[in-house]
Amino acid sequence: NAGLADIDPEIAQVLDQELGRQRGTLEMIASENFVPRSVLQVQGSVLTNKYAEGYPGRRYYGGCEYVDVAENLAIERAKSLFGAAYANVQPHSGASANAAVMHAFARAGDKMLGLELAHGGHLTHGMKINFSGRLYDVASYEVDPATHRIDMDVVRKRALEHRPKVIVAGWSAYPRQLDFEAFRSIADEVGATLWVDMAHFAGLVAAGLHPNPVPIADVVSSTVHKTIGGPRSGFILSRDEANAKKLNSAVFPGQQGGPLMHVVAAKAVAFKLAAEAEFRAKQERTLEGARILADRLQEADVAEAGVQVLTGGTDVHLVLVDLRNSPLDGQQAEDLLHEVGITVNRNSVPFDPRPPMVTSGLRIGTPALASRGFGPEEFTEVADIIAQALKPGADAQALRARVLTLTDGFPLYEGLEQY
Ligand code: PLP
Repeated sequence: NAGLADIDPEIAQVLDQELGRQRGTLEMIASENFVPRSVLQVQGSVLTNKYAEGYPGRRYYGGCEYVDVAENLAIERAKSLFGAAYANVQPHSGASANAAVMHAFARAGDKMLGLELAHGGHLTHGMKINFSGRLYDVASYEVDPATHRIDMDVVRKRALEHRPKVIVAGWSAYPRQLDFEAFRSIADEVGATLWVDMAHFAGLVAAGLHPNPVPIADVVSSTVHKTIGGPRSGFILSRDEANAKKLNSAVFPGQQGGPLMHVVAAKAVAFKLAAEAEFRAKQERTLEGARILADRLQEADVAEAGVQVLTGGTDVHLVLVDLRNSPLDGQQAEDLLHEVGITVNRNSVPFDPRPPMVTSGLRIGTPALASRGFGPEEFTEVADIIAQALKPGADAQALRARVLTLTDGFPLYEGLEQY
């Protein structure tokens, strides 16, 4: 019955140190969040022991009577949250969900059309060395060089040029909403399947604060761990059951073996919580925080330092900072913020002159801080700390002290002490 600290003190120390890091810094990586204690509990449960290849009621293993209940709950809750007729909650991650979607709707060599990686697209939407770029013939649409927004005339032009089998609408770094209806009509015009990857903005959709792609797209994939704030994993939805068989067999046995039942059950918990009023209020704070940040970073003192906000604002949970005219590159800005205790990631901006390991941008998101309880007052303070940090001659120590006042005021995982 020895505890982890006795069995493996090195790993116990990693857990303690990571908990301390999360408590003592401001987490602003746009794709991260803090899961509720209930989700942590389910992920650390005995469900991890269970093999359950197949689907509820049709498993290849015995003893699945209880995990079937969990998976059915996750499916029903996902369907009801997003107004879908079909849900698959088994993908281990967003990338596995996407691999399964392509597996279901295309064959190797078929053409796919997605947002250019350097303009905010995801690896699984056609990056050369990703499965998507290796298996499929990839074409991309870019953002407009002046507005940095997706121009639907360009998407249509590319679609007519390339006649893709699948068009993917979705992003990892884009601060605006997509026009799903326009994507639908382009897909119909060229006879393509329309796939929306809502990995980033699914929590906003669940809260009714972002248009829902489910009624419009042929298939929708997502992660659970970004704005939804659930366990690290993925899922797939569809407005009808027409592609249910194809999608289920693309996930299992097409892409995966046994589902992670502790994660599937944790998804059920996350979807339950996402239907509650408290979740909606949190998503509202998330959006408001991002707007406050975008506004502050466009004030004269920051603009004078050559810092710009891509597209001039945000409609979602993140802000993209353009440093092309600043003395700082993305790496330096990320390091500077790290020093004051704010965690963000450097990010290529469209038409970035610097390489992807350096970049000329930052992606800053508000979901984790909203989960921590931050509202407009705290986000105003965070925005000013970031603004000061990005100006020349920043006093990192003074800014670090301001960060600590915020982290001390909003304790994280209170009572969770030692592993
Ligand atoms: N799709 C999009 C749009 C993403 O931004 C991400 C994650 O960054 C993924 C898919 C992949 O998710 P995961 O990291 O769980 O594989």
